[in-house]
Amino acid sequence: MARRILITGASVAGPALAFWLARAGDEVTVLERAPAFRDGGQNIDIRGVGRTVLRRMGLEQVVKEQGTGETGIRFVDERDKTCAQFDQAEFGVDGPTAELEILRGDLARILVEASRREGATYRYGDHITEFEQQGGGVGVTLFGGTRERFDAVIAAEGIGSSTRKLLLGRDHDREPIGLYMAYFTIPRGHGDGDVARWYAAPGGRSVLLRPDRYGTTRVVMTLREAPCGYEDLPLEEQREVMIHHFADAGWETPRVLEGLRAAEDFYFETVGQVHIDRWSEGRIALTGDAAWATGPITGMGTSLGLIGAYVLAGEMSRTRDMPNAFAAYERVMRPIVQKGQDYPKFGPRLLQPSTRFGIAFQHTVLAFAATPAVRSVAGKLFAGDENGPDLPDYNLDARI
Ligand SMILES: Cc1cc2nc3c(=O)[nH]c(=O)nc-3n(C[C@H](O)[C@H](O)[C@H](O)COP(=O)(O)OP(=O)(O)OC[C@H]3O[C@@H](n4cnc5c(N)ncnc54)[C@H](O)[C@@H]3O)c2cc1C
Repeated sequence: MARRILITGASVAGPALAFWLARAGDEVTVLERAPAFRDGGQNIDIRGVGRTVLRRMGLEQVVKEQGTGETGIRFVDERDKTCAQFDQAEFGVDGPTAELEILRGDLARILVEASRREGATYRYGDHITEFEQQGGGVGVTLFGGTRERFDAVIAAEGIGSSTRKLLLGRDHDREPIGLYMAYFTIPRGHGDGDVARWYAAPGGRSVLLRPDRYGTTRVVMTLREAPCGYEDLPLEEQREVMIHHFADAGWETPRVLEGLRAAEDFYFETVGQVHIDRWSEGRIALTGDAAWATGPITGMGTSLGLIGAYVLAGEMSRTRDMPNAFAAYERVMRPIVQKGQDYPKFGPRLLQPSTRFGIAFQHTVLAFAATPAVRSVAGKLFAGDENGPDLPDYNLDARI
């Protein structure tokens, strides 16, 4: 008999898991808290073993076709002079600009549609408020009032997962790494082409402008500052925080701030990671950012979401004993996640220098890293380790 599986969260990890479980014959329901499909998000990349998983899903080509078109990245000074440049063609598939660069919303849509084709069903605008594990199943109560029973529940709810809190009994909030980031979309300017531009200003500030396939420009503004409560402010005040901090940053910042004022998709966060010592309890498990958020600085969050989904579905396909499947999933994934969460500890300081001297030093280091002789250093600095581990072959793609 088909197992009934509930997955919560319909972004990257949830739909990827739904794809594999539905393909393996489970009856899969995906529950998303937002009232409808969430289309937001900026440029994300898929690297290393994440690419292998996408290939096994048969989705690598469509992701390529819907990519952002970014061909590289330039580090520029206040006059827009290039201090260092990393072209994707020279630095390979996992370079600073990965071969697979796509907007998060576009990737999520591809995954939702692919999992629907495999038979997964989606419900929006609801979430779990309570659950109890009894008699070989999980009884869940939903916010909307429904009570249902499943053979297993997997939370793929992102970094702020409320089911993680219900499951582990305490709040495992993100461990901040001392960076605030704002993401939003602005009209494309004359200088915005297919090559992304990164500008660093004194005071630990940077502005990254990246192309998309919709004729607009995606902005990431980063501020190096220890957590000081900005994360708890209302959205409009968070806008003001960034406007205030970047007012004298120079370069093209005035037009970026003009775009920020008008942006409808302004999103602000304190960058952090989730480190917890177990990812499951009985028949309930965590995956993706809910289990191990890496923060955007590693460039690995989406790849780990895809890899985790494949491994979890693979282990669940080997046995009906959920606790055993979850233990095996954790054994395979722990070392992969540890590697993915790792980033050079000098990374935030190097990428967000405080002084003009620090910025000059950054440009010198990056110019050196961009030379052919030391390309692997650059790869490490921006992309983590491109040589991922061998993935177990669960034969989940037998029906391809
Ligand atoms: C709107 C959005 C924009 C993003 N933009 C970027 C970006 O610009 N750059 C970047 O590097 N990363 C971004 N991310 C994060 C990136 O998607 C993840 O780091 C990575 O892909 C792993 O995805 P995930 O599915 O584990 O978690 P997430 O992508 O965070 O998705 C979690 C999903 O679960 C839903 N959810 C939350 N709580 C519940 C609940 N209790 N019940 C049911 N559903 C719930 C959320 O609405 C969301 O759809 C964004 C995520 C979202 C949701």
